[in-house]
Amino acid sequence: MKIAIPRERRENEKRVAASPDSVKKFVGLGAEVIVETGAGVTSSFSDAEFEAAGAKIAPDEASALKDADVVLKIQRPLTKEEGEDEVALMKKGATLIGHLAALQNRDQAESYAKAGITAISLELLPRISRAQSMDILSSQSNLAGYKAVLDATAEYGRALPMMMTAAGTIAPAKIFIMGVGVAGLQAIATARRLGAIVTATDVRAATKEQVESLGAKFVMVESDETGETEGGYAKEMSDDYKKRQAELVFEHIKKQDIVVTTALIPGREAPILITDEMLAVMKSGSVIVDLAVEAGGNVTQSKPGEIVETDNGVKIVGHLNVPSRLASDSSSLFAKNLFNFLNPMIDKETGNLNLNWEDELVLGTALTRDGNIIHPQLTEGGN
Ligand code: NAD
Repeated sequence: MKIAIPRERRENEKRVAASPDSVKKFVGLGAEVIVETGAGVTSSFSDAEFEAAGAKIAPDEASALKDADVVLKIQRPLTKEEGEDEVALMKKGATLIGHLAALQNRDQAESYAKAGITAISLELLPRISRAQSMDILSSQSNLAGYKAVLDATAEYGRALPMMMTAAGTIAPAKIFIMGVGVAGLQAIATARRLGAIVTATDVRAATKEQVESLGAKFVMVESDETGETEGGYAKEMSDDYKKRQAELVFEHIKKQDIVVTTALIPGREAPILITDEMLAVMKSGSVIVDLAVEAGGNVTQSKPGEIVETDNGVKIVGHLNVPSRLASDSSSLFAKNLFNFLNPMIDKETGNLNLNWEDELVLGTALTRDGNIIHPQLTEGGN
């Protein structure tokens, strides 16, 4: 079996879908691994390191993908309309695996089907215990939560911890984390490590205990309404809840120095949590990082890919692709997720990949098979 790792070509993407460690593991299982030259440069992995791990280096993408049975990608391939057709470089029957953003790019599944490619969109992986080691959303969100606090700190013109010096005392910064999923929990832990006073909120009551176990204070609307679906995700709240949440946040946010927003609702636009009215009462010099900016944003005035400043001196950071800002670690973890997903399905005698079409992990992520679109969320158009 030949596994190819091309260089990522989308804007703001510094990651790569393999690390020298994952290459070594695949080679150990009998696979031949081909890495496009320079694929790892922006993640601090050199061709020489990949070679030392057992990979062959291809001079360009076309020769890397030509005979590949499996293509590992971070982001979905470029399309003909975008000026470069990466799907056309793959052979019929190849398996493509990555964060293909299938639900946001429904039309692209058609091109995988037409090309006879089995496309696996790993962000759709069911979040069951067995899949934790393969979960790209968690591995990347964790790093994004960490980096969001560092990005906020870099824009904030003050220190975070309390400092008692001969010249006087610096008060600790107040940091508020909105949305306590994987990213939010790591943001809390990071802010605490840096010495800030941390509060956090979420619509899911189950997060209260997690927040408190990290030494932060939980801020939440008193309500009988449950913000959690059976699958453990957030759901959209009633208008009454949203109004009371806004009142609570309005009072709390006036006193905050840094706010990190991470709130997402699967399959929908991100909820607005910080309105113009709230921004207007925030302190001059305070900083917001909107991690949900690519899903529409949690802050009315955040702009994708920009740092904007409000009239009253609040900076709003809208960096794109935050995991890619820690490309070496995020690539290593992504690569490990890919290995953990494929490993149980690699025949240890022949080294070939045999996708298990009865496994809910394959059925939950496969978009196409034998020239057809098969994923229920694409064929039935649901979310
Ligand atoms: P996410 O990225 O979908 O959302 C981030 C957070 O925003 C969530 O905690 C959500 O409740 C919150 N949120 C949504 N709307 C909000 C609002 N209006 N106000 C405040 N907060 C709001 O979440 P995630 O990081 O993917 O995690 C979701 C859940 O899945 C968590 O319980 C997590 O522990 C769980 N999880 C399970 C597994 C597994 O078992 N394999 C893996 C990862 C995560």
